[in-house]
Amino acid sequence: MAQSIKAIRGMNDLLPTDTSVWQQVEQVIRATVRAYGYSEMRMPIVEQTSLFCRAIGEVTDVVEKEMYTFEDRSGDSLSLRPEGTAGCVRAALEHSLIYNQEQRLWYMGPMFRHERPQKGRYRQFHQLGVEVFGLNGPDIDAEIIALTYDLWQKLGIADDLCLELNTLGSNEERKVYKESLVKFLEAHFDELDEDSKRRTHTNPLRVLDSKDEKVQALLADAPVLSDFLGAESKAHFEQLQHLLTSLGIKFKLNPRLVRGLDYYNLTVFEWTTTALGAQGTVCGGGRYDGLVEQLGGKPSPAVGFGLGLERLMLLLTTLGKFAPQSAVDVYVCGMGTEIEGEQMKLAHELRAALPEAKVMNHCGGGNFKRLLKRADKVEARVAVILGDDEIQKGTVTLKDLKTSEQQEVTRADAAAQIAAILAC
Ligand code: ATP
Ligand code: MG
Repeated sequence: MAQSIKAIRGMNDLLPTDTSVWQQVEQVIRATVRAYGYSEMRMPIVEQTSLFCRAIGEVTDVVEKEMYTFEDRSGDSLSLRPEGTAGCVRAALEHSLIYNQEQRLWYMGPMFRHERPQKGRYRQFHQLGVEVFGLNGPDIDAEIIALTYDLWQKLGIADDLCLELNTLGSNEERKVYKESLVKFLEAHFDELDEDSKRRTHTNPLRVLDSKDEKVQALLADAPVLSDFLGAESKAHFEQLQHLLTSLGIKFKLNPRLVRGLDYYNLTVFEWTTTALGAQGTVCGGGRYDGLVEQLGGKPSPAVGFGLGLERLMLLLTTLGKFAPQSAVDVYVCGMGTEIEGEQMKLAHELRAALPEAKVMNHCGGGNFKRLLKRADKVEARVAVILGDDEIQKGTVTLKDLKTSEQQEVTRADAAAQIAAILAC
């Protein structure tokens, strides 16, 4: 026997029971972004490697260690997208959606990072991304956070997620702060773990969210960014907090929250949960006012977030929030090969009359018992039975598979009767 080929580690198949739950959640997501007036973008999954290096930053984990990069047949260096913001900005610039305009955009799709696969961390995963261009006030920061909160409420998990908030100030403020932080880290260099030592001179802010306990203890005495903020940055952050409070959205200030990618300034936030162990960040985002210019556009303020769908699904299933739904409501059965054509016509009629219903036509013949067994197996609610007798009389027999009640109705009444059964 030939050896079977397996999926790539960290890249998951979603089976019908999974996709049933995903579709329900995606529907809530689509309805939410739609309700806020956001428009969908669809970008390619592959981009030039230089886009990610320039946008995300050369010395970030994502670019240094996690990208799927390859040369195509023309010798160009391409990468599977590790996140959506860079591609979204690239596309919006390429199609002149940004200059002097406001845009509220969203996208949903797969992202790729070569990480060590574990629960909540995969090599192909999916994100909902929201990106807003052309607005620089704290009101829009509050709006996208409110949008996520709205989503948690609709999904029934608002009490299971905690909002952490920080400000990174302006580039200038951060620069002065970084110098002071580096001085502090250099003075304690021997006490740092290897990662933090490396980051001290490449990406010192990332030392702040080091997972190393000794480093965390040391940081208690480190300079804090909030002491370096000017009046404008402070006002932005205070107004954001005020807006969130007035919307009834609770938050926790976390001065150590810096986020992994280079492009953030001012507002950064994360929604975290304790229900998923180490991979507890479900959604993260912030303001990235410098990125559009960095990618060759005229300066434009921007703010957005990325929401990890696998972690969201894990949280929902851990909390027992969504169950797979049956793919079939109505199972149309015919007794005898002579009526196969009529049976298919009936299924067709029912689909036209009941556009919301899922109507499956039985194929492959068999006796009455077998047909009903199939109807049960696909978890249909109603079996519609057509035999010679019924054809002669212009009727069909309906069996409610939940109550086992059976009734014969005229073919003209069938759709209405089925709708009544499905409704209760
Ligand atoms: P983490 O700190 O968990 O590695 P991150 O800061 O790298 O997350 P972002 O780049 O901000 O994550 O991506 C936004 C969201 O996408 C995360 O909050 C998370 O929910 C999800 N995510 C990121 N990487 C993965 C992954 N490898 N597998 C599954 N989900 C992921
Ligand atoms: Mg990561």
